[in-house]
Amino acid sequence: MFKELVERDVTCLKMSRTILSRKLRVACSFLVDNLIIDAGAPYFKKQLKSYYTNKPPQQAVFTHSHEDHAGNVDMLNMLNIIPYVHENALAYFSAPPPIPYYRRFVWGTPAAGRCQKIGDILKTDKYAFQIIPTPGHSTDHICLYEEKMGWLFTGDLYVGERVIYLYQNEDLFSIKESLRKLSELNFSSIFCSHRGPVAEGRDSLKRKLDHIESLQENANRMKNNGADLKKITTALLGKEDYMYVISRGEFSKTAFVKALLNTD
Ligand SMILES: [Zn+2]
Repeated sequence: MFKELVERDVTCLKMSRTILSRKLRVACSFLVDNLIIDAGAPYFKKQLKSYYTNKPPQQAVFTHSHEDHAGNVDMLNMLNIIPYVHENALAYFSAPPPIPYYRRFVWGTPAAGRCQKIGDILKTDKYAFQIIPTPGHSTDHICLYEEKMGWLFTGDLYVGERVIYLYQNEDLFSIKESLRKLSELNFSSIFCSHRGPVAEGRDSLKRKLDHIESLQENANRMKNNGADLKKITTALLGKEDYMYVISRGEFSKTAFVKALLNTD
């Protein structure tokens, strides 16, 4: 699946593998005034290259180094673009470390390539994006804020209002801090690298933070009443499911509840 959506001046390319007519997880690449914001998964490299060859971008930025956002750095280098990234991401691109099989299956294998350190502002002909460091999902995560237009490109910080799973190496404390920082900005539209444009972006982002805080209160109350991790996880989020199995525990409800309880 490879679909183009245009909202105002933002083109959103939505892509996902389809297995037995079921869509796997969607990733998005945005094109705004000749700037690429995230460049999709390696599985779609050929289609992206032909799309971007027809509409040549001038610049690119990755919200973070994960393969579904930055795995096509080689393709951008071939188009004479050196993408901007947070300085914590620079080392990753000289030799991306191996990723688990389920991620290779969904996204493909990330390429090595050249990137450059981003500054505080990224300008295009028409727009000026403020670069907001937003660690938590990863240490190299940034969001892009265009104040005049009220746009916020959130990478993987938003993704959905109701968190169910967490990656083992995500930092929930920093995710909450980053969400708080963003909620103070004056934006109206969210562009999420998995959902695309999000309706009621500002309210959705606040509801996400509220949801995490209310789960955290409930988890701690249950813990104080003597419940163990498994019982709390099942009560708040249901039993572990296929995601736990497929990811071999890398992406799980238990990791989320552990983080809520601050036990890890
Ligand atoms: Zn990510």
